Amino acid sequence: MSAAGWCALLRIIVSLFVSTQAGVTPSAIRDLQTQVAAIYANAGVDIEWATTTKPGALQVNVLPVLPPIAGCELAFGCSVIDSRNVNPSVAYIASATILQYRLANPRVSGQMLAYVTVHEVGHLLGLQHSNDRGIMHRNIDWLLAPGWAGSDKSALSQKLAASLSARYPAVNQHPIP
Ligand SMILES: [Zn+2]
Repeated sequence: MSAAGWCALLRIIVSLFVSTQAGVTPSAIRDLQTQVAAIYANAGVDIEWATTTKPGALQVNVLPVLPPIAGCELAFGCSVIDSRNVNPSVAYIASATILQYRLANPRVSGQMLAYVTVHEVGHLLGLQHSNDRGIMHRNIDWLLAPGWAGSDKSALSQKLAASLSARYPAVNQHPIP
């Protein structure tokens, strides 16, 4: 991107709010952040975590169950996008619902909270559901493919490259030394 030929890494700010009712321990939160950051790093996106609202930040709220909002798909998470871009876009993650599912599906133990968060943040960034096996697939079982489908990655970089600096002030490019 730059004249010096540095690779540009895109950075997004994610404000993470965890309800005291969510039943998620501080170490589980750190684990969630580590896993989510690793999956986004794999798509060339750097996440800066915040614990307060910030201009342009994407907001993720971890609650026991989803709030009663129309259009919330599945029961694990949903994203609310304000098309007028007046209110911040918010993703909700249903920790108690995820924990129940996890208990019945030990394969995803320790990972599902992160996968659902990656998926919902993907929606906040403008990604639609993908038909390809990967984290943006609608089918929860396919979240077990722990990463991006190739098509997700290219859609993500297109979204981020196209108009993000205007639409998402939190997204900016910074050089890698
Ligand atoms: Zn979805």
